[in-house]
Amino acid sequence: MGSFKLGKMTMRSLFSKPATVRYPYEKRDIEKLFPHMRGHVVNDMDVCILCGMCQRACPVGAITVDRKNGDWTIDQYRCIQCAHCVHECPKKCLSMDVHPAEATTELYVTKEHKDMPAPAAKKPAAGAAAGAAKPKPKLTPEQEARVAEARKKAAAKKAAAAKAAAEGESAEA
Ligand code: SF4
Ligand code: SF4
Repeated sequence: MGSFKLGKMTMRSLFSKPATVRYPYEKRDIEKLFPHMRGHVVNDMDVCILCGMCQRACPVGAITVDRKNGDWTIDQYRCIQCAHCVHECPKKCLSMDVHPAEATTELYVTKEHKDMPAPAAKKPAAGAAAGAAKPKPKLTPEQEARVAEARKKAAAKKAAAAKAAAEGESAEA
């Protein structure tokens, strides 16, 4: 019975296609065979806003976001293909390409660039703007006289206080 089964398997193997391919001469269509494979991270820079969320989410520090210079960088050889950055991206511009990163003998990082719009000029503070816009009220001659009188009185009071203070100091000495 056992030898019959073995013979059947042998015959099937002889006439069926091999399970392997002659890589690298022959390559499999991994997009079709493994549509959910996590090959490497790609970023659609047209949509990316360089918010830095992916950098903060990455557990191995493979992503660097330089918003000031408009650079988004990933070290594909540090990345562990966990796809956490893909899930955390608020703009959904990150995705996992099914193809693995290129095999290489030299490590390198992938840098993407985007020209970010210049930051908007700061608006003046509300108080300062209001102060600048408000013109000084024009006084009538009577009001002018009252203001001059008040200033004179204040100056006299200040001078008297200063004199008293000076006299107190000389008495102490
Ligand atoms: S989280 Fe998304 S939008 Fe933000 S920097 Fe990363 S890729 Fe760009
Ligand atoms: S897939 Fe994971 S390890 Fe790779 S960059 Fe994204 S968060 Fe980092």
